[in-house]
Amino acid sequence: MSYALAAGIAMVCRPIGAQAIMGHTAARASEADATKLRSHATSLLRLFLCGDVMTGRGIDQILPHAGNPVLYERYMRSATGYVELAEEANGPIRKPVEYSYIWGDALAELARRKPQLRIINLETAVTRSDDVADKAVNYRMQPDNIPCINAANIDCCTLANNHVLDWGYEGLAETLRVLKAADIEIAGAGMNLQQARAPALLPVPGKGRVLVFSFGSETSGIPRSWAATADKAGVNLLPDLSSETVRGIRDSIEQTKLTGDVAVLSIHWGGNWGYEVPREQLEFAHRLIDEAGVDIVHGHSSHHVKGMEVYKGKLVLYGCGDFLNDYEGITGYEAYRGDLVLMYFPSLDPSTGNLISLHMTPMQIKRFRLNRALDNDVLWLKNVLNREGKKFGTSVVLSADNTLMLGWTSSN
Ligand SMILES: [Zn+2]
Repeated sequence: MSYALAAGIAMVCRPIGAQAIMGHTAARASEADATKLRSHATSLLRLFLCGDVMTGRGIDQILPHAGNPVLYERYMRSATGYVELAEEANGPIRKPVEYSYIWGDALAELARRKPQLRIINLETAVTRSDDVADKAVNYRMQPDNIPCINAANIDCCTLANNHVLDWGYEGLAETLRVLKAADIEIAGAGMNLQQARAPALLPVPGKGRVLVFSFGSETSGIPRSWAATADKAGVNLLPDLSSETVRGIRDSIEQTKLTGDVAVLSIHWGGNWGYEVPREQLEFAHRLIDEAGVDIVHGHSSHHVKGMEVYKGKLVLYGCGDFLNDYEGITGYEAYRGDLVLMYFPSLDPSTGNLISLHMTPMQIKRFRLNRALDNDVLWLKNVLNREGKKFGTSVVLSADNTLMLGWTSSN
């Protein structure tokens, strides 16, 4: 979504193999199982997912090639104002920063977890266009700052969101060109509907491919007029969350998905604030898994983390929360702690797409940089995820390295 200055134990914890080891007492058997467990771990598909990465506006202003800072927001006329707000809140930022600065401690965590693919929702246009769309908030990052996305070796950006067309069709076309030139795969927007619908095809050596489908819903603030058509550029907009829409998605997944492929369906939906998961989102997610062959539902748009579910072995992230933004000086919704964000590291069985484990590393956005979250903040996130996961049969446990691990009931 977007944000501007305004006037004002029953759980079963997997990793797989743990159950196989339980009950064996003979040392030899345990050794054999441990070997099996290790070889299984190396055969897993490991991903990194997160929610909105908004490197425009204030963040663009601290990067090496700050773009035109002019804004058309009601209460803010320059993107540098968001830098000043952040500095007032959390201290000075030495500008310009290096491209890698914004990822902060996330880079070490990515190096440690070694995900085979890194997938983000890029919540900004990447353009010099001045063709401002008539809306409350418009994000853009100067194209010369695109190395900031490469600095975290991002493989794929989903684009079906409510900011990719913030600077008109010229801005969208430039965004697509810049990402392509930077060797970053995209999904969810294109020069016509066929392109906007096309999934990103991401091969993982020895583990088939990951197909990333990107959809956006009007509930996230995407204007209906942004929908791509056969002869018009735009985003891959969902008409609704009906069973007919699920059938359409099933058809396009069937056309592409081969045995051994894993399908990630990334969806920008819902509002900025609030933990509620509407029934129609839940039913849509379940139908995507039951009927359309989706293996992970990667939901985003909310500015904070929401509950998650494992449905018939498949991971559903209803709202990943933001991951990088320039909101830290904006007040009004502090209770949601939008500054606390999560890196999601799901491991999947590539032959079934089933979730084997989900590790999450809590971070805090401070001075437009990701920092490992402090102990109390990790506990706060743990409590929120447990509270919001209850209705889905999920819970999280704190690991010794101050990260969180998902547990879930296998009742679904
Ligand atoms: Zn959004």
